[in-house]
Amino acid sequence: MTHAPHNLLDLTLPQLETLLAEWGQPAYRARQIWRRLYVNYTSDPQAMTELPPALRTRLAAETQIGTLSPVTIQQADDGLTRKALWRLPGGEVIESVLMIYPGRATVCVSTQAGCAMGCVFCATGRMGLLRNLSSGVVVEQVLWAARELLLLANERAAATDSASTDAAQWWAASDLDDGAFDTAIAIPARLTNVVFMGMGEPFANYDRWWAAVERLHDPQGLNIGARSLTVSTVGLVTGIRRLATESLPINLAISLHAPNDALRSALMPVNDRFPLAELLASVREYLAVTRRRVSFEYVLLQGQNDTPAIAAELAALLAEFGGMAHVNLIPWNPVPGMPLGRSDRRRVRAFQQVLHDQGIGCTVRVERGVAIAAACGQLAGAPIALQPV
Ligand code: SAH
Ligand code: SF4
Repeated sequence: MTHAPHNLLDLTLPQLETLLAEWGQPAYRARQIWRRLYVNYTSDPQAMTELPPALRTRLAAETQIGTLSPVTIQQADDGLTRKALWRLPGGEVIESVLMIYPGRATVCVSTQAGCAMGCVFCATGRMGLLRNLSSGVVVEQVLWAARELLLLANERAAATDSASTDAAQWWAASDLDDGAFDTAIAIPARLTNVVFMGMGEPFANYDRWWAAVERLHDPQGLNIGARSLTVSTVGLVTGIRRLATESLPINLAISLHAPNDALRSALMPVNDRFPLAELLASVREYLAVTRRRVSFEYVLLQGQNDTPAIAAELAALLAEFGGMAHVNLIPWNPVPGMPLGRSDRRRVRAFQQVLHDQGIGCTVRVERGVAIAAACGQLAGAPIALQPV
């Protein structure tokens, strides 16, 4: 019987050390490989030139560095948003989105192929759950973003070096602001943030997801700070309670979308399992234990959950949390075939104003990648416009 090769990205450092010990290799070889994987983002064992050739050959024969095959990589926002569509070995597809801003870059990664939660406004929810992702597959999406960014920064540096002084002066003298879509922005060479807001419900795949979090945070590896990692949950109370006990203080965002049970259950079936009273009780506990702010995501659906009266109800619901709660308003991103509407700008502003007036911190999320269906809730595993990788 042949075994599937080890995906090195699925292993912790101690597990990698064990594997190499079984191969009769000293422990420092594992640390050398670890550095190559997570500091240099190497994807080819033959490039690990500090290893003996026989070990490189064995790694190439018996292990894999990642299991994702790219289907398409699409770009929007002048190349500052990039969506990768991947195929898993089992045939399912998942997506990751890299968003580049002046001086920072965020990757939004998937934690499941599909999702079992069935929120009525979400493209992923319509797919149902196809598969939980392994920690290595979650980590691999982040490595893709890190590599992509490095390539881009190098390309930009080369282009800048060869640009004429005239052009440089023109940029300097022009009054272009350095807003999000200005292609002249400083591209960060390093990935700064990871958000678990792609396909799937992270808390429904908690163990594998958390193993990925630890690997991303590892100071000897990718070294992404806990405060630069954000998980979004549909409101699985069991996961919120568990996160409160973890030693890494990552950020928590909770998808709320409605201030009462009737409306929330109509939009999100999970509310029947964990109604608002129970959800908010878990938030109370979380705040007491962690003393960290929580953000609430709120998708605005025209005429459904976006009236000033509902905004006032939301403000009253969250009043107990004071400055510890922040609301992120997300005008709904259209999903073909869904009989829902995106709240217009005027309604979004009015909703925000009510929350402001009631002292609730609130921002409107600026969407990236709507044109390539890379925005929140549009991820459904189908490219809109194919471009060769
Ligand atoms: N399953 C998790 C994380 C992935 S969804 C969760 O639900 O929180 C990430 C965010 O996108 C959630 O807040 C979700 O409610 C939101 N979302 C889903 N579909 C959307 C859509 N069509 N437009 C805007 N936001 C959407
Ligand atoms: Fe799943 Fe989140 Fe989509 Fe709901 S919004 S179906 S929990 S991915």
